[in-house]
Amino acid sequence: MTSIRIQCPVCQKVKVKEISDEITNKSGISSVLVPADNECDHSLVVFVDSEQRVRRVQQLDYAPTGASGVVEVKSISGMTLRGLRRVLGPLLTSMISALLERKKLVLCNDVEVGISAFGSLNRIFTDDLELGKDIIVVESCSVEGADTYVVDTQVPQRLSGKVGSNLSELVERYLDEALDIVDNEASIIMMRQKTHNLDKAAEAVEAVVSKKMSSREVMKKVKSSFRINLSLDELRAAMDILDGRGVVNIKELITVSGLDDF
Ligand SMILES: [Zn+2]
Repeated sequence: MTSIRIQCPVCQKVKVKEISDEITNKSGISSVLVPADNECDHSLVVFVDSEQRVRRVQQLDYAPTGASGVVEVKSISGMTLRGLRRVLGPLLTSMISALLERKKLVLCNDVEVGISAFGSLNRIFTDDLELGKDIIVVESCSVEGADTYVVDTQVPQRLSGKVGSNLSELVERYLDEALDIVDNEASIIMMRQKTHNLDKAAEAVEAVVSKKMSSREVMKKVKSSFRINLSLDELRAAMDILDGRGVVNIKELITVSGLDDF
């Protein structure tokens, strides 16, 4: 256990809380939830780095239920999706694609942007993402392994990693559609539904393909076995997702031939 000193940004009261080593042993910056108590009735999210230094404290915009001690927090609000797109440009599309391919996303340099991005991405992927594990927010940028997608949030630019082009094209289109809606909540929910469906589609494709098949056969089988109506664009994106996840030969097994099929 490590003690951290937290000052509430609302009432300025200082609390000292113990956090478990499990949280602080994670790479980069992690977040913990500090519930309201007798001294300060604000629920706070505290971002701590791997040296147990408090990097940022913010009031939580919802009241967590049932929490009494310090717990690791998995859902915080970040920038609006529109704001994030403005800041990150096409990189936002690549980041969402990388997460669909289950790559580790490293957001380095500008910690504020990284934390905000985590907030929005975490809401799109709901319970699936963990700060310090799936998404790492760090100051120093270092190029990592093949399963990692590294973004310099200051510039912003991609430093390493790659994602499938059919997948990014589709995610880009989803983002355009979602951002046509002015309401941020609705945009987030739409992206959540679309990415969730794409994830399910990829799983369905993986389940039905065992030998060489045409795209039409795959789509038929996915429909009969999983009741999922795949478009050709979605099938191509699903193949990128599976390829990115390391499903061997998936691209060789499915023959996508637009002319023969349609
Ligand atoms: Zn307070």
